[in-house]
Amino acid sequence: MNAGKGRGSGTSKGFENILVRMRELIVDRDGARLIHGVEVCGVDVDAETRCGHWNSPIDIIAIKFKCCGGWFPCFDCHAETTGHLAEVWPASDFGEKAILCGACGYQLTIDEYLVSDSSCTRCSAAFNPGCEKHYHLYFAAAATA
Ligand SMILES: [Zn+2]
Ligand SMILES: [Zn+2]
Ligand SMILES: [Zn+2]
Repeated sequence: MNAGKGRGSGTSKGFENILVRMRELIVDRDGARLIHGVEVCGVDVDAETRCGHWNSPIDIIAIKFKCCGGWFPCFDCHAETTGHLAEVWPASDFGEKAILCGACGYQLTIDEYLVSDSSCTRCSAAFNPGCEKHYHLYFAAAATA
């Protein structure tokens, strides 16, 4: 019968895409983000676990917390997101997989991480060696001597 009219406009689709992108940005902002299948909570968490507090190229680990079992990029992210006091891992739990490599998704045990020389034992990505200064926030003193 009649021709014409079949022309769909591309603008609404483009607009939808913008909305989707905006929604992604908003979700990123207020918390949880899936990183290699692990839900990491924090402030402005990026795809490799950097956060609003620590975001140099080598800040790519997330840490699982003893208190709530959740994964966070850093101590401050945990404090700001959960509002409760963090519990450190006792030495008896150092076999627990509590360090997530943001580069490859490998989970290191605390023991493994402490002797890793600040790099991933699977993909060799460099971790921030400065984290060493904050071990006491996450792990009970490992010293047994
Ligand atoms: Zn907690
Ligand atoms: Zn943080
Ligand atoms: Zn890795």
